[in-house]
Amino acid sequence: MPWFGLDIGGTLSKLVYFEPNDYRDFFNNEEEVQRGKNIRYYLLNNKAYGKTGIRDEHLQMDNVVINNSTGTLHFIRFPTERMTHFIQLVKSKGFAQFRSTVCATGGGAIKFAAEMENELGMQLHKADELESLISGIEFIAENFVDECYYYDNPLDSEKCRKVIWRWSSARCSTTDSQYTNENRAESGLQYPYVVCNIGSGVSVLVVHGHNKFQRVSGSSIGGGFFQGMCSLLCNSNSFEDSIELATKGDNKNVDKLVGDIYGSAYESIGLPYDTVAASLGKISDPSDREHIRPEDLARSALVTVANNIGSIAFNVAKQHGIDRIAFVGNFLRVNPIAARHLAHAMNFWSKGTKKALFLVHEGYFGSVGCFQQLHD
Ligand code: ADP
Repeated sequence: MPWFGLDIGGTLSKLVYFEPNDYRDFFNNEEEVQRGKNIRYYLLNNKAYGKTGIRDEHLQMDNVVINNSTGTLHFIRFPTERMTHFIQLVKSKGFAQFRSTVCATGGGAIKFAAEMENELGMQLHKADELESLISGIEFIAENFVDECYYYDNPLDSEKCRKVIWRWSSARCSTTDSQYTNENRAESGLQYPYVVCNIGSGVSVLVVHGHNKFQRVSGSSIGGGFFQGMCSLLCNSNSFEDSIELATKGDNKNVDKLVGDIYGSAYESIGLPYDTVAASLGKISDPSDREHIRPEDLARSALVTVANNIGSIAFNVAKQHGIDRIAFVGNFLRVNPIAARHLAHAMNFWSKGTKKALFLVHEGYFGSVGCFQQLHD
């Protein structure tokens, strides 16, 4: 049985490691048990690996059952540009000496297959990335009762709160105090639903049933575009810095609003005063650019990306008559501003009939799905 699911994306590689509760159920001999323990020791005694690998300890899932084995799922990520380093690390630690396969998905599972096979003597079990994404979403949501949430009053800084949206068949639970327990919905993401995956780029899928889905739309204006814009406009060198800048910024200083053009709302078609009419529309004149703050530009880039994606996702949901839209992908990591804008956009444009849902394991569904699919 494989231990690892690896989703090698355009920006980030996501590694899911299944730690069995009982090693002896799992391996054939003492040597394998010892090797398993060495991997466990290395991975779990660290939260960071080299300069760029991170274990997201807060996402860990205990007592998960896969293929009749019970264990813990651990979540690790590193930049895909460090893939060759990762391969050398696996080699130098002797972790590739298992007979097991590693499940892999994402474009990198194709791109790096030969290098992994040559360097590590390891066969990759390749899975389709969208099948893995959907199967990972459903597996985690069934296993973790608090996976799914939505925002109430998303753009109201005082009244905004996260509310758990219950997936009816979920088995485990948590007592995370950041969530409101009252008002929990009785049922969760039943079919059909829309998935909007915001990674480096964006994919929008309609899911009609188990293993029944279609990619219906997408955009190149996603997480990669946001980081690219922040690098160019604000000299930001990391996603975390871009988010920090955006958090301190105000896009109204650089975006032209409906109110800037009309002096009020555009009431006959229902556009409020503060709707962005033209992203970066206030800085075309050189004199307007004298006092621009990088924070405002970062915020504008973030809002532009969120609004565009919101509009695509809303149109897909409307066209297919679907009320629930699950937003996933690492663009939403440490990024409540984007999530709240998406939630507001869905509420506003659907007059409250369509709900934006967010999932706690944001960018890890592909890696869980490719791993878990093998045992489906
Ligand atoms: P992909 O599979 O295309 O790499 P992800 O779902 O992993 O997609 O999301 C990648 C996006 O997540 C990036 O474009 C960026 O906007 C955002 N992101 C979040 N955290 C980081 C990080 N630590 N480093 C780089 N990008 C990050």
